[in-house]
Amino acid sequence: MNPCPCGFLGHPNGKCRCTPDQVALYRAKISGPLLDRIDLQIEVPALPEADLTSQSGGEASHMIRARVEAARERQLNRQGKPNYLLSTLEIDTLCVADEQGQSLLKQAITRLDLSARAYHRILKVARTIADLANHDEIGAGHIAEAVQYRRFDKNR
Ligand SMILES: [Zn+2]
Repeated sequence: MNPCPCGFLGHPNGKCRCTPDQVALYRAKISGPLLDRIDLQIEVPALPEADLTSQSGGEASHMIRARVEAARERQLNRQGKPNYLLSTLEIDTLCVADEQGQSLLKQAITRLDLSARAYHRILKVARTIADLANHDEIGAGHIAEAVQYRRFDKNR
């Protein structure tokens, strides 16, 4: 979705004249229960034209592909299916965070007033982040990253 009715909020061209009320009304068009089911909510700022046309030094696609395939392999070896197919019950047994991770998640749920659905979805995403990093344990860093992908949840 666009950041505001005109689409230019935060754009370097400074064209947006939308008021905070207009922006809030626009964003409220996506219902809370729908947003709740979107695991990765990320703000993608507009790029100045110069950045679009220049070559960036990002990670090569084949490197990322290898990491994703290895993470999928880990998931199949551990539980016979990819993380996205895990049921709530399976998440409770297979996606257990370490002590620091658990306390961070509890804090986040309370402070951000997240739903039970969000709780399980954060654990599942954190499990995937840990798999991508080749970690057996879900740590506080993995939880923190998963929590920050829920930035538009309505309850905030
Ligand atoms: Zn605008």
